[in-house]
Amino acid sequence: MLTPVTYMPTPSRNSASFPIISSLTRTLLRLVAADSTLQSANKGDSDLSVKPGDDFYRYANGGWLARVAIPADRHMYDTRAILAERTKAQVRSLIQDAAAANQPNGTIAQKVGDYYVSFMDEAGIETMGMAPLGDEMATIAAIGDKTALSADLGRTLNREVDGLTVNGDHVIGLWINQGFEDADHNLPHLWQGGLGLPSRDNYLDESPKAVELRAKYQAHVTAVLKLAGFADPETRAGRVVSLETRMARSFAPDSDAADVFKQNNLWKRYDFGVKAPGMDWEAYFKSAGLAKQSDFVVWQPSAVSGISTLMEGGSIEEWKDYLRFHLVEHYVGVLPKAVKAEHFAFYGKILAGQEQPPDRSETAIDATSGALGEAVGQLYTQSYFPPEAKAKAQAMVRDLVAAFQARISNLSWMSPQTKERAFKKLAALEVGIGYPDTWTDYSTLEIVRGDAFGNMRRAEAFYRQRDLAKLNQPVDPIEWPMNTQVPGAVIMFSPNAEFFSAAILQPPFFDYQGDSASNYGSAGVGIAHEISHSFDELGDIYDARGRLSSWWINEDRSRFRQEAARLAAQFDKYCPFSDLCVNGKRVLNENTADLAGLLVAHDAYVRSLQGKTDVVLGGLTGEQRFFLAFAQRWRRIQSEAALRKQVLSDTHAPGEYRSDTVRNVDAWYKAFPVAPGDKLYLKPEDRVRIW
Ligand SMILES: [Zn+2]
Repeated sequence: MLTPVTYMPTPSRNSASFPIISSLTRTLLRLVAADSTLQSANKGDSDLSVKPGDDFYRYANGGWLARVAIPADRHMYDTRAILAERTKAQVRSLIQDAAAANQPNGTIAQKVGDYYVSFMDEAGIETMGMAPLGDEMATIAAIGDKTALSADLGRTLNREVDGLTVNGDHVIGLWINQGFEDADHNLPHLWQGGLGLPSRDNYLDESPKAVELRAKYQAHVTAVLKLAGFADPETRAGRVVSLETRMARSFAPDSDAADVFKQNNLWKRYDFGVKAPGMDWEAYFKSAGLAKQSDFVVWQPSAVSGISTLMEGGSIEEWKDYLRFHLVEHYVGVLPKAVKAEHFAFYGKILAGQEQPPDRSETAIDATSGALGEAVGQLYTQSYFPPEAKAKAQAMVRDLVAAFQARISNLSWMSPQTKERAFKKLAALEVGIGYPDTWTDYSTLEIVRGDAFGNMRRAEAFYRQRDLAKLNQPVDPIEWPMNTQVPGAVIMFSPNAEFFSAAILQPPFFDYQGDSASNYGSAGVGIAHEISHSFDELGDIYDARGRLSSWWINEDRSRFRQEAARLAAQFDKYCPFSDLCVNGKRVLNENTADLAGLLVAHDAYVRSLQGKTDVVLGGLTGEQRFFLAFAQRWRRIQSEAALRKQVLSDTHAPGEYRSDTVRNVDAWYKAFPVAPGDKLYLKPEDRVRIW
């Protein structure tokens, strides 16, 4: 469920943007991929010879499980993979259609098409060689002192992907969002970045494997600098790796990325000179466009201080070589083949274990969809998520929120004062469905056919200007943090908002023209699952406006945990292998949210019927379709090794057991013939509710 989704405005450099995502983190933002369910309970996918009370997962999915095989190049296959494949094909055809037609100049279709065509023009890119880097290389060459170096680092301070990155693409990364305790102002959030290897441990680990990796990295830096035409690349590469190693020593450990309290460090502008001497901060912030900014949130103070210290003492030349190497890496997607091949040889083959680089058209699709995210998003929704779809999903969300509110009212573990705060938070929660009400205006971004490098650079500058402008604007809780053509969801704990992309709200997950019972049982459960996270132990540290402030009282917490322990015990008993059982505690957080999602979505479904009885479709009642769609969301085939790995390390239980959540829901016992003695049967007092 928590697959990283990349939605950078620029083609992601695969080395330096590994979002750390853990279901147990309480970072202010969570990415959630494909957390919805299969739409339209499909009878052909079921196995009606299985007793639903004995094995509901196989009753719902037996036909599909028997029919489908794991593709040769994977370890698993599931609904999420199906959706990803479908979306990928849709986005590809939209972009290639825009590229093929003669689009009127200035339209988003022209920009999308020309970005793609330029990126695909490998012959043109080859002809240009390294020349496009000329002016930036000259700027670096001209750096003569610390002030000029500081200004250059400030000039490249650029937006990073989100609040999850442990190692930004630049020395110090930038993200504009409200403050941790200040919901009235957007602030620049600064965090550590600029390492070429994925994490600081790659530099500090003294094991033979790590030492070997560093040697290979240094060889890569050498090769890149050689390709860029620099004399004595070996010496330069040694300096680059040495500088990065010293930077890494001051970096916060990756595990800190999960702890938002460690990131909540408000620095005034004058603090930088005192707490982080070395950098010429005046020159830095001036060229970063932040000269007038007085407040900052510094996520890892040790890194900012450490990087700043490295401006003293060391030689300017090592910094210049460092900047040259990273400049080439930053633009590698739009540089000649030899540079790309060298990049892949290290980041693709050695670091990621890939055999072959992705097809150029695939890279071009991703680059276009990243650089012109909301332009591609507009084309995407025009084709696949019309306003009727949005209206239908929004109506479902209204039912879900009303149902969740009623659930909170009836909770026995939550104290009256906490309930009041929960109601306030629920009322303030923004739920973005499908696509933003106002799209990004790309009219000032010039995309020129035949200028791949310039297009990328102008797109970056465009976003940078847009981000800096936000510092003078009020916080906008409904600003979309993701591209809608990416199947997934984002929880923004701060501000208090959640987003579900158009790409995830499509079949097999949601069908606005399809069966409503299945929609509630699939996408409805997924949305309610995520909403519950804003109110559970992940969300209890953020108030109605996304400020850090715990709103549960201790008694709530201990009563909640008591209830939840019963669910953990239920999952402890599930054993996919005779020598391996589920660890109920590890998967508890997600199972609790599944249970909340299922209970709330069922209430919402009943509410949507407004007292009427749902139609029978294909011999199935609405109640049956609701629960079947839920069980079908969890279908997955995977190798034994992959399943063992999931049980041992994932915070999500195998789908089969998540599907068994139904045994805690009274309505399931009415929808299907389930009786005492059936394997999944639970006595009413043994059913866990929590929410
Ligand atoms: Zn979850």
